[in-house]
Amino acid sequence: MATLDKFDVTGRSALVTGAASGIGLAYAEAMAEGGAKVTLADIDIEGAEREAERLRGEGHDARAAALDVSDEEATGRVFDEHDAAYGGLDIAFANAGIDTGAGFWNPGGYRNPDGQVDTYDPKRWDKSIAVNLSGIFYTVHHAVRIMKKPGRANGRTGGSVICTASNAGLVTEPIVGLPYMPAKAGILHMVRALGLELAEFGIRVNAIAPGPFVTNIGGGWVKNDPVARKAWDAIVPLGRMAEPDQIKPLALLLASDASDYMTGSHAVIDGGMMLGKYQ
Ligand code: NAD
Repeated sequence: MATLDKFDVTGRSALVTGAASGIGLAYAEAMAEGGAKVTLADIDIEGAEREAERLRGEGHDARAAALDVSDEEATGRVFDEHDAAYGGLDIAFANAGIDTGAGFWNPGGYRNPDGQVDTYDPKRWDKSIAVNLSGIFYTVHHAVRIMKKPGRANGRTGGSVICTASNAGLVTEPIVGLPYMPAKAGILHMVRALGLELAEFGIRVNAIAPGPFVTNIGGGWVKNDPVARKAWDAIVPLGRMAEPDQIKPLALLLASDASDYMTGSHAVIDGGMMLGKYQ
């Protein structure tokens, strides 16, 4: 098979959580552009409907679903609806995630009063783990349930699951709220465990660990604050924060047969942020 043909996902179906905005929307667009049918699932149903309609207007096959990934039963229903609409599931992006407030350090040069381990609100911890870690498990749990079902409409078996982690799951980030880091590190290790468990079924599980992307996370503050944006651009070795479009080729690689010998691994896409500082 020609190398470029291995990236073709025509006739497959994909479900993306957190697909109304940012990185999840870029994943959904990449799947649609690659030829897949796609469900855009998001707690923001208006946003998901708007983007699914736009993709349909561009000639793609897309549908929207309302979903809070911290609700296990609702997650199961959304996957069942995808299965009924598209006759199975080939690709799943467990992506929805939230910012969990300030970490212990403020870039302004002081300690955040409510970001210390002894002042951090346990309710914020619970919410972060519920969405950023349990939500990923519920998504993968139901994705694999559907992928293992026999009789897929396109005759395929197996599948590809891609979880969005973060470089904050690999290194410490003093400005990021505490629970975000163990949640993202937990995703990376869950991906390793599932790579092993699911290899026998032809289901590959990998993670993407993004660095700083310009999205709506945390209210999209970096979009509206040119000073913060400039400061972020300055600390990235490649000189700028990333736009969501820049994650699309990696998404297509991991979703498609182009990565058919990759499982249990993670890909860092961070402009060199994890390489250290020299100035
Ligand atoms: P975003 O806010 O632009 O998009 C997140 C989407 O998830 C939104 O559409 C939101 O409505 C949805 N969402 C939030 N809570 C949800 C829930 N409980 N159930 C379903 N949907 C929900 O943010 P983003 O930056 O695109 O974030 C996507 C993923 O990328 C997250 O897992 C985030 O942790 C991760 N990430 C982002 C960055 C970055 O710099 N932007 C870096 C590393 C990792």
